[in-house]
Amino acid sequence: MLNRREFLRRAGVAGVAAALSPREALARLRSSEKENAMEAIQTVTGPVDPAELGVTLIHEHVMCDFIGADMTGPHRWERDEVYEVMLPYLDAVRDAGGQSFGDCSPKFLGRDPVLLRRLSEASGLHIITNTGLYKDPYLPKYALDGTAESLADDWTREAKEGIDDTGIRPGFIKIAANEGDLSPIQRKIVRAAALTHLRAGLTIAAHTTESTTVLQELDVLESEGVAGSAFIWVHADAQANRDIWREAGRRGAWIELDAVTPEEPERHLEMIKDLIEADLIDQVLISQDRGWYNVGEPKGGEQRPFDKLLTEFVPAMKKAGIDDDAVDKLLKDNPARALTPRVRAG
Ligand SMILES: [Zn+2]
Repeated sequence: MLNRREFLRRAGVAGVAAALSPREALARLRSSEKENAMEAIQTVTGPVDPAELGVTLIHEHVMCDFIGADMTGPHRWERDEVYEVMLPYLDAVRDAGGQSFGDCSPKFLGRDPVLLRRLSEASGLHIITNTGLYKDPYLPKYALDGTAESLADDWTREAKEGIDDTGIRPGFIKIAANEGDLSPIQRKIVRAAALTHLRAGLTIAAHTTESTTVLQELDVLESEGVAGSAFIWVHADAQANRDIWREAGRRGAWIELDAVTPEEPERHLEMIKDLIEADLIDQVLISQDRGWYNVGEPKGGEQRPFDKLLTEFVPAMKKAGIDDDAVDKLLKDNPARALTPRVRAG
């Protein structure tokens, strides 16, 4: 039996929720997001008002180096060459109406903030880099030996003071989970991301390809007092079990479909329609996970262009009956809301 006060509290909450139309509920959510916002989104050239982010490719890569944490470093690539190879692809994004670009290569996997700043200045795109760490075998020894607190100290320092001595601040946290049950080291990294989030307000984007793992990541965040809305489920489209999308969505997580293949759009068009149907369109992000200059290959190997999402997939969405409002959310509103730094306690 509920006591009277509890009954009234629950009835009151339900009454308010029931009285709001989805549009009003969203407006309320957005105004509370604004009130709690810590500051602008940090790009490699400085802070940007979330309203100025515009059309955004949230998950792409300028450069990757898959050689391992103890061997990678700026000695492995020629910045001028990477700049020359990659600039035309970024220019093409800008020419197609793109304004912002999330670079998802973490530290020890090809993150070079100085190169990104040069590319941003030349292309006019806002480029957002990250703090955090990937997974085995791309983890440095200090991550294996350290604690969640020591990693969070590092990442918070990057968030507040900039990466190394560049003054360039990351705009989000990028981590990765192993497949299956979270291993102890990945659990530590998820905890470190939670602690960093609570100190710096940055959103956590986690490479996660299995459903058991994503629910465990959300458990770790929640046990640290971080809400699911601070979490981007990167590679959600690798997951065949749509019930897990719904469950992660109910827990507030962002569902990122980042292997969009504009040349063969059907699979992702169907996924987006499914998420609209499930009333989760306000939590969906799309991108291509493309690029990149692959360090170690002549001229960085073969690149896949970034602009196709705008030149081919957007028309395909419209043709498939996905309305302009939904397209705007996927390309503009959702990325801006996802990346606005603010502590999301839960
Ligand atoms: Zn990626």
